[in-house]
Amino acid sequence: MSSILVTGGSGMVGKHLKEILPNAIYISSKDGDLKNPIYVNHLLSTHSPKTVIHLAARVGGIQENIKHPADFFDDNILMNTNVLKFSYKNNVKNFIGVLSTCVYPDKIKKYPMTEKDMFLGPPTPTNFSYGYAKRCLAVQIEAYNKQYGTKYNYLIPSNLYSELDNFEHGIKMHFVTSLLKKIKESNREIKLLGTGKPLRQFMYAGDFARVIKKVIDNNITDNFNIACPENLTIDEMAKIAIKELKPNLTLQYSNPELDGQYRKDVSNEKMKKLLPDFKFTPFIEGIKKVYDKIS
Ligand code: NAP
Repeated sequence: MSSILVTGGSGMVGKHLKEILPNAIYISSKDGDLKNPIYVNHLLSTHSPKTVIHLAARVGGIQENIKHPADFFDDNILMNTNVLKFSYKNNVKNFIGVLSTCVYPDKIKKYPMTEKDMFLGPPTPTNFSYGYAKRCLAVQIEAYNKQYGTKYNYLIPSNLYSELDNFEHGIKMHFVTSLLKKIKESNREIKLLGTGKPLRQFMYAGDFARVIKKVIDNNITDNFNIACPENLTIDEMAKIAIKELKPNLTLQYSNPELDGQYRKDVSNEKMKKLLPDFKFTPFIEGIKKVYDKIS
């Protein structure tokens, strides 16, 4: 019996984690619905893991978030509540919750944002429900630690990209992965949504999986941001990718209302103290790796 159980094991991050932590138990929605408390209690009492890595979430792009805010809130609140509650009831020692930099305020006076800034304002309107539901997981984990004396924690990763993204489901694909697919499939021009001005810290998803493994290996119970230091505009990322991969392509923008949050860069200072030797994949290397694997 494995001592580590991973929810969301069939997702982008779950697949990367499986490559470096193959002996854990990986759960997907095909095994059962984490919104159902009876199933979740059964799952955790059957496997009795020492550690739960809770990756499962309803995740989506800006258009999905705008169309289905109630679903994003309900699904994430229910999954998080069930997985955390029944982890505790089934004596799980280490619970690692996964948030997102979407938990941070839409605007703040000083960037990059630190872990202490989470509650200084509401999340951005375009993914308010998702951001708030993820923020609630931080509140819930802290509440368990206070009331029950657990040492559960959460990680706050920035935007991710990967060759293991869901290429079949265009609207769910993450910006950089979708950009690379567009470059692969086009010979003249590529079209992007928004203005290209927002800033993002895009991280290779395999890097996030390596951080999770280090958190387990080093028994880290702190909550911290994980984001690569490169904070680039959408336009800069697109231009770097075109220059490296297909320099003859031209770039067009449409639907400026779909920009989303202007910036949400977070500080890595806390992570550097906990994992001083960790090296992120530079953007230029990460995109080449992903591009080569797109069929
Ligand atoms: P993903 O590829 O969308 O995968 C989501 C996972 O959750 C899948 O395994 C899915 O199972 C499972 N799931 C969804 N609803 C479920 C339900 N009702 N019952 C059981 N399982 C369910 O997500 P990801 O990109 O790997 O993200 C992993 C974590 O990182 C999430 O918590 C996400 O919020 C966070 N995060 C992601 C990003 C990003 O850019 N992707 C950035 C910051 C934080 P099926 O495959 O069977 O549907």
